[in-house]
Amino acid sequence: MKKVLVLEDESSIRSFVVINLKRSGYEPIEAATGEQAYEQVRLNPDIKVAILDIMLPDTDGFEVCRRLRAADPKMGIIMLTARTQEMDKVTGLMTGADDYVTKPFSPAELTARIDALYRRVGGGDEEETGELVRGPFKLNTRNRTLEKNGERIKLTQVEYSIIRLFMDNTGKALSREEILNNVWGKDYFGELKIVDVNIRRLRIKIEDDATNPTYITTVWGYGYKWGY
Ligand code: CA
Repeated sequence: MKKVLVLEDESSIRSFVVINLKRSGYEPIEAATGEQAYEQVRLNPDIKVAILDIMLPDTDGFEVCRRLRAADPKMGIIMLTARTQEMDKVTGLMTGADDYVTKPFSPAELTARIDALYRRVGGGDEEETGELVRGPFKLNTRNRTLEKNGERIKLTQVEYSIIRLFMDNTGKALSREEILNNVWGKDYFGELKIVDVNIRRLRIKIEDDATNPTYITTVWGYGYKWGY
């Protein structure tokens, strides 16, 4: 599902956006405060587009934009601006937003902007080709297979999910908790060690030298990072 963060403290506007996103095939992730937004992004590292209101109870949308952008340079960000705040557009774009929509807006206008942004940030690339290519690796998301330099590597479903998560977050350190939540689900009550065990096995399958890994590197005291 294509996740979209919806940060808006006015519940009527938030619901309006949420309903329309669902209708257009997106999975809206709701937040009413800046803190909730950061938490949701942490829990859902696959959010590729964020819609940010500017006036918020605990912070402002520009600050949220700045922080999201710093954490994920590829995230698509749309600011919700009020008609009376012309300057917001400039400030928003200066802080790293990709686009802005002026309130009141029509559902068609908003979803058109999100569709365009999703295409631009590459959220739709694997839907079109079914393939994610990273360095020597090619992941086919339709038949869930991985190739390295054209050779098939057999993966378990869990290993596939880990690789997929890494490829969607290239260059970003993922905590072991994040990997556990994403691959095994939030309701899984296992030990974090299961992440390490699977990474070890995965390294044997995909690294040139599993004792000296270069694709999946360890971020000490935190988790792992995918380098391609
Ligand atoms: Ca507001």
